[in-house]
Amino acid sequence: MDLLNTLVDKGLRRELPTREEALAVLATSDDDLLEVVAAAGRVRRQWFGRRVKLNYLVNLKSGLCPEDCSYCSQRLGSKAEILKYTWLKPDEASKAAAAGVAGGAKRVCLVASGRGPTDRDVARVSQTIEAIKEQNEGVEVCACLGLLSDGQAERLRDAGADAYNHNLNTSEGTYGDITTTHTYADRVDTVQKAHAAGLSACSGLIAGMGERDEDLVDVVFSLRELDPDSVPVNFLIPFEGTPLAKEWNLTPQRALRILAMVRFVCPDVEVRLAGGREVHLRTLQPLALHLANSIFLGDYLTSEGQAGKADLDMIADAGFEVEGTDTTTLPEHRADAVAGGCGSGGGGGCAPCGDTGTETGTDTGTGTAVETAPETESVSAARPDLVAVRRRGAGTDIAPNA
Ligand code: SF4
Repeated sequence: MDLLNTLVDKGLRRELPTREEALAVLATSDDDLLEVVAAAGRVRRQWFGRRVKLNYLVNLKSGLCPEDCSYCSQRLGSKAEILKYTWLKPDEASKAAAAGVAGGAKRVCLVASGRGPTDRDVARVSQTIEAIKEQNEGVEVCACLGLLSDGQAERLRDAGADAYNHNLNTSEGTYGDITTTHTYADRVDTVQKAHAAGLSACSGLIAGMGERDEDLVDVVFSLRELDPDSVPVNFLIPFEGTPLAKEWNLTPQRALRILAMVRFVCPDVEVRLAGGREVHLRTLQPLALHLANSIFLGDYLTSEGQAGKADLDMIADAGFEVEGTDTTTLPEHRADAVAGGCGSGGGGGCAPCGDTGTETGTDTGTGTAVETAPETESVSAARPDLVAVRRRGAGTDIAPNA
């Protein structure tokens, strides 16, 4: 049976592909890239039309983290020359958030470095959430504060948070190679706490850390089982001064195949094109809009993105539209589950992980064989020139990029 036709059919029915099918997407050749994008694009349009949701990051507390996540410029012992500052005051954070909202962002993501918040930190962030909600009608707020203790998700929800982000980042099997100061199980536990508190769960991955295709498929299948509403797909930004500085493993084509695989496995979920898109997709960024229905506007936590205006121009030029606050992002069946405080995902769109039993196909819809890429895929040359440390916005006196 034809691989791409099978995956489109399953995506339109919200049915889980097999692991073999997901792996086969990653193994397609560059010659078949546009067909893969077109197929996954059909699934994207079924659930999200041509809308692009804009999200805006505010780094509430930067650097000085006691954890050792290898990919992170804020980690223990990082030599990256990033901005370092302690908690922004609620009015400073609200001002930063307002710049993103004025640029078209529908969701503000409040992020703080650290293992997890103290109860005092939760009180501080609660004040910030209240200030942002008061000053920006209709904006969604997502908090990302690390590992949560009992009761903290509920307190954030009561303060007005809509969502909580905590990424799985990589497969359970490789997690210990990336981080030693906390475990994969700790991360799963926090996503489940957010879910159980009735927050919309956001959890994603980082590709390009030297993982195998099997690891990418593992983490995306684990995410589907956890059933978050949004899945950020990050591409490693190899920061000088971190252990993964030399890991330049992605080509623009590979990044698109990864996004297509995520879309097929999580068809009706907000797939967000996250950190590293400028660095790894480069001039192919507009093609990614056919796969992801959500992006970050402007800068990232510690690195600079392309100008916010360039993001808006790219969306318009590619024939997409920025999603307004009057539109519900998620398809009706998922949005209802969120509104009803569904903690189990049982009413959501993602079926439980399992064997759905369809054979892996090898043909495209046009009858053309989908060839698999040679085992040693060509990799990008290192492009450290594309990694720019953030020197503007939150924590500085310089206007933010929004
Ligand atoms: S990812 Fe988070 S917990 Fe890990 S080092 Fe960076 S800031 Fe700390």
